[in-house]
Amino acid sequence: MTATTNSRAHAFLERLVGRTPGEADFHQAVAEVVESVWPVIEDRPEFLEAGILERLVEPDRAISFRVTWRDDAGRVNVNRGYRVQFNNAIGPYKGGLRFHPSVRLGVVKFLGFEQIFKNSLTGLPMGGAKGGSDFDPKGRSDAEVMRFCQAFMAELYRHIGKDADVPAGDIGVGAREIGYLFGAYKHLTGRWEPALTGKGLAYGGSLIRPEATGYGCVYFAQAMLGRLGHSVEGRTCLVSGSGNVALYTAEKLVQLGARVVTLSDSDGFVHDPEGLDEERLAWVRDLKFRRRGRIREYAEHFRSAYHPGARPWGVGGELAFPCATQNEVDEADARALVQGGLEALCEGANMPTTARALDVLQAAGVLFGPGKAANAGGVAVSGLEQSQNSQRLTWTRAEVDGRLCAIIQAIHTTCVRHGERVDGGVDYVRGANVGGFVKVAEAMLAQGLY
Ligand code: NDP
Repeated sequence: MTATTNSRAHAFLERLVGRTPGEADFHQAVAEVVESVWPVIEDRPEFLEAGILERLVEPDRAISFRVTWRDDAGRVNVNRGYRVQFNNAIGPYKGGLRFHPSVRLGVVKFLGFEQIFKNSLTGLPMGGAKGGSDFDPKGRSDAEVMRFCQAFMAELYRHIGKDADVPAGDIGVGAREIGYLFGAYKHLTGRWEPALTGKGLAYGGSLIRPEATGYGCVYFAQAMLGRLGHSVEGRTCLVSGSGNVALYTAEKLVQLGARVVTLSDSDGFVHDPEGLDEERLAWVRDLKFRRRGRIREYAEHFRSAYHPGARPWGVGGELAFPCATQNEVDEADARALVQGGLEALCEGANMPTTARALDVLQAAGVLFGPGKAANAGGVAVSGLEQSQNSQRLTWTRAEVDGRLCAIIQAIHTTCVRHGERVDGGVDYVRGANVGGFVKVAEAMLAQGLY
């Protein structure tokens, strides 16, 4: 960027921060996009004249509501629910629901904003949205989770629908929660309508949807490495998290012959230098998805090292896959990763890398796959779930996986097209932001001023 362009972009961000105080995660997400797309905006006076960027950072609507429910002891509990419908220029709103005590408006807005560009990159007709609640499902009985989901949907159902807004899962919202939310939607509307994705196979779900974000993340890493004639096979991989995204990232890496040596949760991480295998992975899936246990139990069961209160970035590895949450790789972590021989980092989670950490990684020449591109496999297969629901057909596992692979490869190609540098390297952050932005901006322009 030139100095003038830079100062205009800076002034834009200052205005945004002034108008949305206390939304640091949202500011971080917008700053990254603005830095990438500002030169494009200045090259296209029609985008500037139509105020595309000003309109993009203001959600179409942000709904906040009270969720009242009773716990097993009969006590009344009050949580806050959100749905932020950001932009539907290219398709009905689409984006997950997060149930976690850290959920605030600024968190939902950062996720919804990112979702606009991610969904655009998939090439499928999906707008951007996100939602959730500060409810913590951890330690709650199935009956409590069900009552919470029913109370949450008692308000949300007014705002969603198969052609309006189609939520899915995210942190704290897995197969169990989607089942209860779908049951509540059906009960309230009196219609069997696919207004949610991530549904169970018995009621309209898609094969490969649970695996899609993690598998897609590894396919993206393969594409980045493949461009340089490298692969994931035989490489030492650090994975954080032990939820949906982390476990299917690890599974695909193991299938491709990589050595996955870490997993984590919010209490700490396990380090297993021998690497996970299918049997150990099946054990963790049962621990996390059925018994809802903690990752330290892995260390007790398989006699590996456990590091309480720490993140896995210091143990040395060639490939890193942060798959837990935002800002889980900070500047010090990035330095440790570089020192440990990192070649590539691929974001399974949304915005897991801080801006300063990204600077460190880019300065060290680490290949960096941003979440918008690298974790788009989940929403892509959600889109394919919607297609199957519309056709009233179910595609085979191989067909869905093949389409997922093709979509991720196309995203990689888009990133290279918009992010290639003069030295032949690729700035995947710029590539993903510009590639996702241009289509949405053109659609907004074509549809007039709203
Ligand atoms: P899950 O709830 O299945 O798993 C989340 C994992 O991250 C758990 O191991 C959890 O540990 C850990 N975690 C959550 N919050 C924190 C925290 N503050 N500090 C440390 N660890 C934490 O969620 P998903 O796997 O679905 O989502 C993980 C990430 O991937 C999120 O950033 C999400 O937005 C992103 N994503 C998810 C998609 C999907 O299809 N599910 C699609 C695209 C992106 P604990 O159990 O201790 O909380």
